[in-house]
Amino acid sequence: MKHLNVLKEVFGYDSFRPQQAEIIENVLNGCNGIVIMPTGAGKSLCYQIPAIAMPGMGLVISPLIALMRDQVESLKQAGARAAFLNSSLTPEEASSIKKRARAGELDLLYVAPERAVTEEFLGLLEDCSINEIAIDEAHCVSQWGHDFRPEYLQLQILRERFPKVPVLALTATADETTQNEIRTRLGLSDATLYLGGFDRPNISYAIDLKKNAKTQIKSFLNDESKQHSGIIYCLSRKKVEQTATWLEGEGYRALPYHAGLPPEVRSRNQDLFLNEDGIIMVATIAFGMGIDKPDVRFVVHMDLPKSIESYYQETGRAGRDGLPARAYMIYGLGDLVTHKQMIENGDSSGEQKRVENRKLHSLLGLCETVACRRKALLGYFGEERKENCGNCDTCLTPPEQWHGTREAQMALSCVYRTEQRFGVHYLVDVLLGGDDPRIQKFGHDKLSVYGVGRERDRTEWFSIFRQLIAAGYLTVDIGGYGSLRLSPLSSQILKEGLEIYFRKDPIPQKKRAERGSSSNKKSFQLENEEQEARWQALRKKRMAIAKKQGVPPYVIFHDKTLIEMAIQKPEKESDLLHITGIGEQKLKKYGKEFLDVLNSPTPL
Ligand code: ADP
Ligand code: ZN
Repeated sequence: MKHLNVLKEVFGYDSFRPQQAEIIENVLNGCNGIVIMPTGAGKSLCYQIPAIAMPGMGLVISPLIALMRDQVESLKQAGARAAFLNSSLTPEEASSIKKRARAGELDLLYVAPERAVTEEFLGLLEDCSINEIAIDEAHCVSQWGHDFRPEYLQLQILRERFPKVPVLALTATADETTQNEIRTRLGLSDATLYLGGFDRPNISYAIDLKKNAKTQIKSFLNDESKQHSGIIYCLSRKKVEQTATWLEGEGYRALPYHAGLPPEVRSRNQDLFLNEDGIIMVATIAFGMGIDKPDVRFVVHMDLPKSIESYYQETGRAGRDGLPARAYMIYGLGDLVTHKQMIENGDSSGEQKRVENRKLHSLLGLCETVACRRKALLGYFGEERKENCGNCDTCLTPPEQWHGTREAQMALSCVYRTEQRFGVHYLVDVLLGGDDPRIQKFGHDKLSVYGVGRERDRTEWFSIFRQLIAAGYLTVDIGGYGSLRLSPLSSQILKEGLEIYFRKDPIPQKKRAERGSSSNKKSFQLENEEQEARWQALRKKRMAIAKKQGVPPYVIFHDKTLIEMAIQKPEKESDLLHITGIGEQKLKKYGKEFLDVLNSPTPL
């Protein structure tokens, strides 16, 4: 079958997205490729379509059972012959799948990397006709990366045993070092590199200072959040549990997820999250890799993540289906100190620790920027963008700036005169002329900086210190319990009279919402009540079908498909084929049921 036909007839889509066609043609020509594209860009189709279009079977290496299960289920729904081999199968099921593979009855076979390199499995492959090898989450090959999987290093053996079969390695996050590791470690020196842009235009970004976390989260969540799925990330297990319990008390359905929970609880919570609407997963970063749920509508960070890469990857789990989604983070100086301690006490090498610290600081820069968040985010990944995005908090409510050279000098000389031995609370006390008993003890009430800062309040001083840290004029010393030290840059302010502008702390989220920013807008605008009613009825139908089959609703149809149906109100089967995401198999399977819902006259 031609690849464009597969796109239309199997997947029900009209046209390829940027780069998809090229990548697919490259595989069809028998060449290797490395694909680096953001989440939701449509990487899966790049290996699924060639596997279906060519004679023989495509092999897909995927590190996570949940992900395999979802993809295989979606493929089957679309009428493709797909299966996986992993430890969740009974021996009988596994042997029947192997039989089908040998008989040429499969288009795609998914396996985990550790199985892929066993002699037994390689033997099976030799009996089959393999048309392509896809290696998903290829960044797992990077020893420096946070998702390192040693089994990935052995995958080269596939290249050695099947040198003629084209290999496609795919990932959403890989800086240049990781790209090179993928190339060398997977034996792909001749592969064509496809580098997609990093922008996720449907995600709106907002970052706030942590003041009262609960109030802030409450005003971020809205009524609509009770119907939608979302993820809230916390730094510690304890906070995960507390937050989940608190949200339950507020009338949300919230489930905890962290590595300390028994495996059966974790997998139950994950299944519920995947299969039902309206669940908030409160989790540590142990949750998320390989979660392919397309309709996650928001991702919240209750604490600072550890780098821009992590922030990007975690927020990237929102809005894979391309519909509007929101990312919201609250952070404070305390988070910074916690991370620094974690880096310091971790067992990375000195060089690695310096890298981790640098990454943390880049993230702090993003938090404190007065510029468009998206510009700053993309800039970090080397993607330059001229226009402001209009879909982030700094674009929607530009923060004011104020001239603060004098205050910067006060803050830095306070650090200097107290001998770089104190944390931010003490320093602010000195500037405000406070009565911390240590001030007298050390004679700091005699210093010229004692009480010079009374024109500003405590919150403002915290903000000043934070911004000086973010901009690199001060460093946080972890060995010294978070005491602040001058950096070499500080002399620019102290001695060379560099002019400094500070960001005025933005008004809280809630007021912004009242002022009509996007934070409380509905995710997707159905135009009238009739459409809204149709959308709800279609969702109900979808849920009933999904429950009956024991699969997540999105493998039946994505939200986008239902929304198009609700708006266009197709009347006959041929109209349904024009709706995105409806191919021939799905039309046959579900067309009539959904048309009945659309055509039913009684109150939808
Ligand atoms: P990735 O693996 O890059 O994160 P996916 O392959 O999961 O992304 O694709 C994200 C979503 O976009 C899926 O719902 C997929 O069906 C949809 N999609 C992919 N390609 C197209 C296309 N050409 N037209 C319409 N939708 C597409
Ligand atoms: Zn912006």
